[in-house]
Amino acid sequence: MYLEITEYIYVNHEMKRPEKKVIIFRMRTGHGKTKKMLKRWNMTDSSDCNVCGVEENLQHIIMECKKYETATSRLKEQVENRGIQFRIKELLGKAAKNKQRETVKYLGQCVKDTGLIDAL
Ligand SMILES: [Zn+2]
Repeated sequence: MYLEITEYIYVNHEMKRPEKKVIIFRMRTGHGKTKKMLKRWNMTDSSDCNVCGVEENLQHIIMECKKYETATSRLKEQVENRGIQFRIKELLGKAAKNKQRETVKYLGQCVKDTGLIDAL
């Protein structure tokens, strides 16, 4: 888990759309429905990204995947402009407390832009 319980509560109060809240929670606890996890749960045959051919985990989706490049490059620009490192742990909770709200907002927007809001 990336966060302490107090931080979950803080973030949950900030988020207006419950589905985003659930996805961010899943991402933070490592239970986002990536192909890696679906394979682990025997819900798919392959854990590979069907575009890039490498394991589809959260790191891959947010940082590397060609399929989501438009949305994730926007996220990268947004967080880096705020002085936040574009790293998965940073985005999911290690960002400084006063920047966490924005980070989660950007991440939520990215998840929506990628269409993963219905998948993860
Ligand atoms: Zn990919």
